[in-house]
Amino acid sequence: MFDLVIKDAEIHDGSGAKPVHGDLGVRDGKIAAIGPNLGAARETVKADGLALAPGIIDGHTHYDAQITWDPFVDPSPALGVTTAILGNCGFTIAPCKPADRDLTMRHLTHVEGMSLDALRAGINWGFESFPQYLDMLEKNGVGPNVACFAGHSAIRTFVMGTDATERAATDEEIARMVALVREGMAAGAVGFASSTAEAHNGEGGTPMPSRLADDRELRALVRAMGDSGRGVYMLTKGSKTSIPYLEELAVEARRPVVIAALFHSNTNPTAAFTTLDQVNAARGRGRQLVAQTSCCPLSMDFTFKSPYLFESMESWKPAMAAHGDEALKKIYRDPSWRGAVKREIEAARGRLVFNGEWDKLFIVETAKPENRKLEGATLAQLAAAAGKEPLDFILDFALSEDLDTQFVAQLLHNDEKAVGKILADPNTHISLSDAGAHLTFFCDAGFGLHLMGHWSRDLGVLDLPNAVHRLTGQPAKLFGIQDRGFLREGLAADLMLFDPKTVARGPKRRAYDLPAGAARLTAGAIGLHGVWINGARAADEKGFCADPASRPGKVLRSFVA
Ligand SMILES: [Zn+2]
Repeated sequence: MFDLVIKDAEIHDGSGAKPVHGDLGVRDGKIAAIGPNLGAARETVKADGLALAPGIIDGHTHYDAQITWDPFVDPSPALGVTTAILGNCGFTIAPCKPADRDLTMRHLTHVEGMSLDALRAGINWGFESFPQYLDMLEKNGVGPNVACFAGHSAIRTFVMGTDATERAATDEEIARMVALVREGMAAGAVGFASSTAEAHNGEGGTPMPSRLADDRELRALVRAMGDSGRGVYMLTKGSKTSIPYLEELAVEARRPVVIAALFHSNTNPTAAFTTLDQVNAARGRGRQLVAQTSCCPLSMDFTFKSPYLFESMESWKPAMAAHGDEALKKIYRDPSWRGAVKREIEAARGRLVFNGEWDKLFIVETAKPENRKLEGATLAQLAAAAGKEPLDFILDFALSEDLDTQFVAQLLHNDEKAVGKILADPNTHISLSDAGAHLTFFCDAGFGLHLMGHWSRDLGVLDLPNAVHRLTGQPAKLFGIQDRGFLREGLAADLMLFDPKTVARGPKRRAYDLPAGAARLTAGAIGLHGVWINGARAADEKGFCADPASRPGKVLRSFVA
């Protein structure tokens, strides 16, 4: 007797092989049988030819804070995700001394796109060390399966306090950080994660702590991870960490290096391919370098109260350091500051987050009703009609609406021919949903559905078995998760049932359901008929359906080399 049988499905096993038609039986949370006409079950689901695949492994999430108040990490499970990797870019909340909690939240509030109030009201600080954090998740239970990186910025803050965002570490401090990486790996971290990216800033424009690490520190910490014989080094790369440098680290640590974020830019169209060629050349030399990319165009909703897309610019620093809206408005009005911004956009074009593509920047929602007619227009059009430079127009307009205008910028990764080439490369790691972060800017938690619907079905960039493989079996192997990512007898029953003819991610919408009523963007699924985590149903055709008090997920703490 099975607990569950899913009958008459096209079964994609996660390996990239052609699907087979049949039934899949589940017992005790594991796949008990795959074959024709399986016997009796407590529950039978008729698939009627729908596709059945392993659940999606989302390799790049930031649910570290959210999971402490929302163990089901909404909305990912309702979008097919059964395993989430936390702690990417090294933005973890463990380890953290009680005295540093506010400091840690102030670092995160900006990069997570979550208000400080939401973090203060939401985070359950029932831990101090990283092992205690994993123990707490395990004790409280989790919705999907989760694996956690040991995070560089948290470790640096734990050792250096407020100095973590100010200076290089001493030998003694590096030694203490090394000990914390070792402790994390011993406790069951999936690897070590860091960021050198110029776009990663905390409150007031302070760089995230890991950005202050020098070469000695980075090498020591990556080697400490490698000494465990396991683990993946994950880095969101800034300009100071070149691919040849990361290849050296991969050799020293003898471990895979996952490099984010490979985005295609219209203003620097060859850069992504140069990076990809370098990564593939290193792979040819036997190094385990993996470029992490996205299958979603990078677009960002923003207001001028917190315009993330401009904040990696040197000239934007005074605006980021401004305290309060009035101080901010004063800077926005200043012609000499505007001049510096314009010069930097011109000089650094192709290397910024926003590269002056004013035709890809739109008004989404105006604050004043009389401006409604401008919604949907591009800033290029509006500025030309007004006879102003686009930067002047957008700032003047935002100022006239008390900085409450909602804009959206299509920033990167929107040339479908170029992006298709990157996705078709079998060695890129497709993820970068950033789920749990940038919550007011975008929501790509449904990236897997978008890969199967848009890129596979609509554009034919990769066939469905391969699209499934890239979301399941491939990341399982990359992260050393041995009992998931494939549909095989004896493996965990992490399952996703969907209609290949309609599968897609639904439209994004704004919700005000974070702690303290803070806003975020979220989205639902289209064509997804069921999601099971360790055999327990988490979603049906209408969306999330689990008992919110249930905790079917596992905290993954053992990985294979
Ligand atoms: Zn990230």
